[in-house]
Amino acid sequence: MEAFSTSPDTLATRWDAVRQAITQAAQQSGRQAESVRLIAVSKTHPAEKLAALHTLGAVDFGENRVQEAESKINALGRAAYRWHLIGPLQANKARKAVTLFDVFHALDSVALALRLDRVCDELGRAEFPVLLQANLSRETTKSGVELHQLAALRDTVLSSKHLKLEGLMTLPPYFDAAEAVRPYFRQLREVRDAWQTQGYFGATLGELSMGMSHDFAVAIAEGATLVRVGTALFGTRS
Ligand SMILES: *Cc1c(COP(=O)(O)O)cnc(C)c1O
Repeated sequence: MEAFSTSPDTLATRWDAVRQAITQAAQQSGRQAESVRLIAVSKTHPAEKLAALHTLGAVDFGENRVQEAESKINALGRAAYRWHLIGPLQANKARKAVTLFDVFHALDSVALALRLDRVCDELGRAEFPVLLQANLSRETTKSGVELHQLAALRDTVLSSKHLKLEGLMTLPPYFDAAEAVRPYFRQLREVRDAWQTQGYFGATLGELSMGMSHDFAVAIAEGATLVRVGTALFGTRS
């Protein structure tokens, strides 16, 4: 199974299937397929596999550990790839994260925001796009801030020198039935819409990073602009 799943043909088939499913989900809810960006979640997979997917047209790659991503980013470069840090970030990895990644999806504390802003200053990075991770299910095992803390984190980002408020992200609880996560996706969109109306994203549309392999179609129906897909593209992680 694993040998088969790494073959270039299989990768191409999966890439096409996921792209097609995204297009279909977008069209069914009256959206343009181009309004949804596919992030290939490449954690645990070697750089060669990422390069193979890049050849097929993938540009956006998501990694959840700075340490693991470092060698892949150094091998593949920053020019032709867009690197998304989608996992929680420890304060002591902030410098590396700012050095390596194009965008951070999992900002979950005021202290981390302040630290990232300071690091940007030190490293001369003018702008670091961030998404705020919301913990809507209030699971203690999940990172992210609860709904009532989101505004404070947003205001910290908005008053920082270098952080750019790009959008919101969530990682809902796992349910076998993808439909069961719809209320979480909807809730995140409602926050985004309210903030949009209030002008917090300026002239650009606030991003909604939500939806993974088994539920991205539901997320797209609820307005996802960034879907984070690993297993459906690369096969099961060992
Ligand atoms: C691993 C991961 C994904 C991808 O999950 P799949 O089910 O493999 O598509 C998406 N988002 C985050 C934050 C992840 O850690």
